[in-house]
Amino acid sequence: MQRLALFDLDNTLIDLDGAFLSWAEEFAEEHRLGRKAIDHLVKLDRNGLPHRELFFLKVRERFKLSASARELWAAYRRRMPHLVQCRPEVMAKLTELRALGWRVGIITNGTADNQFGKIQQTGLADAVDGYAVSGIEGIRKPDVGLFEIAARRCGADLAGGGWMVGDHPVSDIGGGHTAGLRTVWIRRGSWAGHERPPDHVVTDVTHAMDILRDTGMTPERH
Ligand SMILES: [Mg+2]
Repeated sequence: MQRLALFDLDNTLIDLDGAFLSWAEEFAEEHRLGRKAIDHLVKLDRNGLPHRELFFLKVRERFKLSASARELWAAYRRRMPHLVQCRPEVMAKLTELRALGWRVGIITNGTADNQFGKIQQTGLADAVDGYAVSGIEGIRKPDVGLFEIAARRCGADLAGGGWMVGDHPVSDIGGGHTAGLRTVWIRRGSWAGHERPPDHVVTDVTHAMDILRDTGMTPERH
């Protein structure tokens, strides 16, 4: 199997939940919503309103804000790239994998400005061989088309196999499986209710990188 590793971005390579909390604190302060509003925003985020347009419609209604949901969402997308970080140990292990001959890519769903901004601001743009953002390509995980684009950007072909690492059971693990890749799931919540179990389950992306490194060191049998 070729040494190709595709990684999801949010809550895989970067701590989106941590950045979201920072954003919620700033937002509550800016709009003078009080501390309780922070919990409300976080709960709204965790309880399945990942689509930001819907999220900001609710937020606007709840806090009776004068700005439109679209404006609030745009401000969020401008700010988030400055709040996310990629931990140094994650960067170091990406570098290690590439030094061992791995091609490494990012495959992420989201708007062009927000996702591209995060990839740039964290320095990940220079730490990988390529990336594919759904908002730029017009196609979303789990569609195999986005996996094909990501692989190509890394100078690889899905036909040669490889790995997909991510935290979303359907977009990342289901999508990776359909794309013919082996999968590592970064556990968030429960797997129950999802088909196609991952090949490995870890709690941190660096553990997934260790698995890939060790697998790549095993001589392939022909
Ligand atoms: Mg994710």
